Amino acid sequence: MVDKPVVDLDNYREPEQLEVMQQIQKDGVCPFCMDEFTKHQTEETLFDGKYWLLTYNRWPYKNTKVHLLAIYKEHAEHILEVEPAAGAELIEVFQWASTHFTVPGGGFVMRFGDTNYSAGSVQHLHAQFIQPDIDAATYEPVRVKLGKSRKE
Ligand SMILES: [Zn+2]
Repeated sequence: MVDKPVVDLDNYREPEQLEVMQQIQKDGVCPFCMDEFTKHQTEETLFDGKYWLLTYNRWPYKNTKVHLLAIYKEHAEHILEVEPAAGAELIEVFQWASTHFTVPGGGFVMRFGDTNYSAGSVQHLHAQFIQPDIDAATYEPVRVKLGKSRKE
């Protein structure tokens, strides 16, 4: 159990994701803490390091050919809570992904902290690794949002 909400329902992208997030909020659990995550994990573990677990994003962004999530294996919400050695391992994880998926280029992003600023859906620290699908028929550039949308 966690003492405060760890999902931000304002920042969901897919209807099924909202349902899952509502259930998480009701249960009062952190979906990315390893006990909880492995209980409900739907996607394969690709890399299991000391600090990071790499898996597919259950809800990949549109126009991505590769969209992976590296989840920090301890509960942390702010970059200040992360061991610097985890940064080195994260590069190793993404190098593995680049080789495994033969990624010619792309990007990675890690939101952190207050979700009003990060626009993150899950506060538990995770990094996203993305290769855009530039050959898709409906291709548009992949954009990453930082900062919550203004309420109308
Ligand atoms: Zn957690």
